[in-house]
Amino acid sequence: MEIAKLSAALERIHVTDENEDPLSAATDGRTSQKASNSKTATKLSSKTKLSSSTSKANRTRPALQPLALQKLAIANATKLSTNLSRVTVTTTLGQSSRISATHYHIATESALIPSVPRAWHLGMFDIGKPLGKGKFGRVYLAREKTSGFVCALKVLHKAEIQQEGFEKQVRREIEIQSHLAHPNLLSLYGHFHDSRRIFLIVEFAGQGELYKHLRKEQRFPERKAAQYIAQTASALKYLHRKHIIHRDIKPENLLVGIYGEIKMSDFGWSVHTPYARRTTLCGTLDYLPPEMLSSMGVSYSKQVDLWSLGVLMYEFLVGEAPFEDSLVMTKRKIVRGEYSIPSFVSSEAKDLIKRLLVLDPEKRIPLEEIERHPWIIKHCKKSTDSKG
Ligand code: AMP
Repeated sequence: MEIAKLSAALERIHVTDENEDPLSAATDGRTSQKASNSKTATKLSSKTKLSSSTSKANRTRPALQPLALQKLAIANATKLSTNLSRVTVTTTLGQSSRISATHYHIATESALIPSVPRAWHLGMFDIGKPLGKGKFGRVYLAREKTSGFVCALKVLHKAEIQQEGFEKQVRREIEIQSHLAHPNLLSLYGHFHDSRRIFLIVEFAGQGELYKHLRKEQRFPERKAAQYIAQTASALKYLHRKHIIHRDIKPENLLVGIYGEIKMSDFGWSVHTPYARRTTLCGTLDYLPPEMLSSMGVSYSKQVDLWSLGVLMYEFLVGEAPFEDSLVMTKRKIVRGEYSIPSFVSSEAKDLIKRLLVLDPEKRIPLEEIERHPWIIKHCKKSTDSKG
């Protein structure tokens, strides 16, 4: 599909927006690396200061005023858009006036969720520091100007999407994700595009990638692992109720919210993995269930997510995936269900892993039972949702 067709398809989803291009320096792949190396890249700047022709001004311009503790008045929210549900943003910045992920405390009573499509455009946002790099572009910290609402702006380059033949997938994922609302699923608030790029306005996950936390801690204490598993199971229950199978559950696709809660993301198109093991050796093989590996043509169902949840739980507690090996050996071990659980893992946790990593998909423990499992109850007494 050509770019023009991709653009036309996006318009059918909802808005068209061919705006001025204030992100030219900040989101252009060629220049953004420089920006990320610069201290000023962490500052939110006005759109004029982010243009490539004013890069010097960028360095001298003071950051925007730090957001004071603020509760948006209904009137403000109404001014922002009659389409928005009520928005409350509480932001505390540290002593520094720089806006950065670690300095935020954001509380949202209800997120910036448009009840009907809204004509977003780039000029509505202050763009902050790059949060990460995905397969088709970068993700930036951003702030909606009128409301002060902090979010992440994901920039996808149409040419790259087209090159990889991902047009349909991107479109489908936008459609799916915009209809989801769950505390442990990363919200997609809206999207817009210009001639070269697609912009996704997504919830800001203040504590970043779960995978980085796991690598840093090596393995999680059982309490933390149980809370993460309960939250992931809760998100999956919601998805499965809507007949959506995630199919790609792994630590790289989980972000962590400001309260330490799971935010499941990447509903299919983002396969960027900064860690070599996944990309060069096995891809996502470690997390694939036996029914997706064994014989071609065997259909699979939502139970694939239960298997991946079991692999996730194992990796949380042990620090490595249960079938991790060479490509051939990993595949062999998965189809045979061959793994062992180290003795430092509690017997309750072992029991749940064993009930998830079952070769027969129909015999895997259902999500409703996971939340009643003794290991989950023991560690998540109050809630299995976002606050765990
Ligand atoms: P993605 O393109 O979704 O794979 O994102 C690339 C990287 O950007 C991720 O690995 C995260 O480090 C970061 N990132 C993406 N989305 C967000 C978000 N909503 N909040 C915080 N960081 C994010």
